[in-house]
Amino acid sequence: MSSYVAMAPQTNRLAATDSKHAAFWQNANTYFNKVYAELNLDPNVRSMLATPKRVLTVSCPIKMDDGRYQTFTGYRVQHNNTLGPFKGGLRYDLAVDRDEVMALAMLQTWKNALVGLPYGGAKGGIVCDPRALSPREKERLTRRYTSEILPIIGPEVDIPAPDAGTDSQVMAWLLDTYSMMVGHQELGVVTGKPVSLGGSVGREEATGRGVMYVLRKFFQTSGKSLQGARIAIQGFGNVGYHAARLLDELGANIIAVSDRFTGIYNDKGIDVEAAGRFVKETGKLTDCPEGDAMTNEELLTCNCDVLIPAAMENTITAEVAPEIRAQTMVEAANGPTTPEADDILKDRGITILPDILANAGGVTVSYFEWVQGLDNYFWDKPRVDEELQKVMDKAFERVDTLANEKDCDYRTAAYGLGIGRVAEAHKLKGLFP
Ligand code: NAD
Repeated sequence: MSSYVAMAPQTNRLAATDSKHAAFWQNANTYFNKVYAELNLDPNVRSMLATPKRVLTVSCPIKMDDGRYQTFTGYRVQHNNTLGPFKGGLRYDLAVDRDEVMALAMLQTWKNALVGLPYGGAKGGIVCDPRALSPREKERLTRRYTSEILPIIGPEVDIPAPDAGTDSQVMAWLLDTYSMMVGHQELGVVTGKPVSLGGSVGREEATGRGVMYVLRKFFQTSGKSLQGARIAIQGFGNVGYHAARLLDELGANIIAVSDRFTGIYNDKGIDVEAAGRFVKETGKLTDCPEGDAMTNEELLTCNCDVLIPAAMENTITAEVAPEIRAQTMVEAANGPTTPEADDILKDRGITILPDILANAGGVTVSYFEWVQGLDNYFWDKPRVDEELQKVMDKAFERVDTLANEKDCDYRTAAYGLGIGRVAEAHKLKGLFP
């Protein structure tokens, strides 16, 4: 081992200690370090992979509807671009901070590599409550943020997409701002656009659809049936709703769903479409007549076969892990499980389908959208679904095979494949200069 490697930091020097998400960034590093050691990956590139390539903080002043000026903080973190342009979502949430965005950007790098996309990993965020902004305020904020990060994004450089708190309308404003500033329409600068603006059919539901494909494949591999399987889902936004709807279509029984305000429970199965309509109309699950009210804690520990955390990071903690009754957990959210909870669940024999595998459907259809935009040739929905299923099934099979070969859990196998692919690319490219 060279002295350079021996001196490589064990934890990342960028880690902050006073942010809300210092622990999340630390968790991402813990998983990275564990997998790196367990799978004997190349020590020479370890410190490069552990460190984000670029961390940009921007200040976004906008005029509010009442005439006041308010300044919002935004971030864009570009973790690694060895395999291609940076790619990753944009989150609007009051809890966003630099450490959260760094952790999400790192996970995005491993995810894109795992499913074989020609992308590196990035993530962005603005500290704001999207529900408290009027549409005009949200538009001004998106346009200002886009202009602030403009020097480091572009179709060959870094391509944002929706994440929690953002949607196709936000992507349309981002596209328009970028295009106005460079002087021509640049469809490839962003994915998750409205279909009428060069978006891909199927992108909106793609993450939830990917969750369904991975769970279905795992059940098939284990000789189990989804028919009648009792499923509880934490988070009933874009990902949670579509996962629930598509699993319900396969005959699973969605017995509980929740959002940040409340949960609802119905032993006979929730009418997912009706609950979705209720949330669209009222903005929350509170008082939804499709089930009895329950707390988020009760949802996590309810009597179910499959638990799907589809909300935010760090919701599955060491406190709740011993009480979880599901035998399978599918991480639709990014980073929902802390390393301590992960150990507890593994010891209890609970199978975890990890985030970078389970929720890769969104970025995969984003990739399809990018390809369609570059070709100016647009696919129909059956083709998008079929191509997505191929990618998700293949990714699951590779993870399952490695897990069997190495006698390890799915997280170690998935992270090992993702990190290993990036490490290999670094080795082949060598170090500049
Ligand atoms: P969203 O904003 O559409 O929905 C989030 C849901 O989680 C809402 O129902 C919200 O009320 C709920 N929620 C938030 N905090 C909660 C808490 N503490 N307890 C219970 N519920 C809570 O977001 P989304 O796009 O569905 O993203 C959800 C997760 O999936 C995030 O971790 C995101 O990074 C990940 N993800 C999203 C995509 C995508 O394409 N949108 C792709 C990959 C991964």
